[in-house]
Amino acid sequence: MRLVRLGTVLNNSGVPLGPLGAVDIEGHTAVAGRGVLHGQGNCRALESGSRKVRVQLAGAQLCGACAWPLEEDHPLSGFAVAVTRLETPAVAPDSAAAPDPMAQPAVPAVRAPGVRAWRRAQTAVLLGYAAVREFSWLEQWAQPRLVAMADVAERARRAVVPLVDPGDLIAAACVASMEPGHVGAVLPQSSATWGLDGEALLRQAWAQWHAECVSGTMSVAMSLPGARSAVYAAFGRRRKGRDEALDSVQHLITPLIEQARQCAEAQRALPGRRCELAIPPLESGAWPTVQGDPLTPWQAGVLAVHQADVDWQTGRAVLLAPAPVVDRLAAG
Ligand SMILES: [Zn+2]
Repeated sequence: MRLVRLGTVLNNSGVPLGPLGAVDIEGHTAVAGRGVLHGQGNCRALESGSRKVRVQLAGAQLCGACAWPLEEDHPLSGFAVAVTRLETPAVAPDSAAAPDPMAQPAVPAVRAPGVRAWRRAQTAVLLGYAAVREFSWLEQWAQPRLVAMADVAERARRAVVPLVDPGDLIAAACVASMEPGHVGAVLPQSSATWGLDGEALLRQAWAQWHAECVSGTMSVAMSLPGARSAVYAAFGRRRKGRDEALDSVQHLITPLIEQARQCAEAQRALPGRRCELAIPPLESGAWPTVQGDPLTPWQAGVLAVHQADVDWQTGRAVLLAPAPVVDRLAAG
């Protein structure tokens, strides 16, 4: 059972009821005559008692203050959700996703301001189109709303673009194909006195660094601290050997960052490739305001920067991106 403000949802915007207009709805009305229908018998607008009636939705005048208790599978429950999705104004890009002129580019995609607002705006469009697919008679009524929502999403995307470094996106794709190799080569003789397995520690630092770069949680250019954090975690409060271990991690990772940078530079000059991506909506979490993003920060950055076209009907974007980025995207 859920409480739905049917009067608010259905009255204000001339929404077409389609076949649902023939659905009977129960409510309370003043004893005299056929007045406004109320969802709750104790509504303040009902002055002189009330009686319960059952009328067709199409002819009913619904109280804007009342909520109607509806079963989850009542045909009007889903319809009210669909209409609300199409009415909800999407996030205003001017305030939520305006680029900060002082912001430095080359930040990891995850930290780029406005990514969240843009993904929310995308989600609103995707859910809007899904609502129209479910209740097809809404199409004409919904069209200008869908166009406006898509415009909001596009403006929000454009606000994100200058804040994501395309070179770093390619560098992350280059890192994805790297292997740890023989990490022990950078270990000093004295590592035997560290009191832990030096090679295992370096492999762990490498794996952490690799995962953070590939997911876009860290910009490749600024990824060394992530690898070093594995050393701090392994040594805990112990200081003996820690600085040597940090040096080893630096010797291991710094050339790899440089290698990724060179790979990105070489690839950037090559012609791009086209690919398609189904844009996933944000997922509703346990709390309605906390939504999970199925896209990694890197994938979101790629979509923002390289989107060439989007078909909201199918929810698919066409991307024109450097080859390693396309390959990495296809790998999932
Ligand atoms: Zn009422």
